[in-house]
Amino acid sequence: MKEYIITRQQLEKNIIESGNPICQECGLVITPIETVDNAGNRTHWCGCTNCGIYTSGTTEKVREIAKKIMHRYSYRQFSAKEACDLVSMVLSLNQPHPEG
Ligand SMILES: [Zn+2]
Repeated sequence: MKEYIITRQQLEKNIIESGNPICQECGLVITPIETVDNAGNRTHWCGCTNCGIYTSGTTEKVREIAKKIMHRYSYRQFSAKEACDLVSMVLSLNQPHPEG
């Protein structure tokens, strides 16, 4: 019986510590999904079982802003993931720069 590279318990702890992120697509909570990595080792990755995707998720705030952008610029056909990534990037750029 082979051990997991990342156990469900480890990943659940990481998910809680990162603030219980939600799926960019449907907004449900991110959960550990059992899978195998590229080397064929059993492991768990973060994802959304509802959408069947692997993702580390996003925050409610980011998803709300992303939904507004997708609505306003619907002709650009952003995916929810792309819109959330864009919003996350803008928010992080908007953070005050740490002084040296
Ligand atoms: Zn989802």
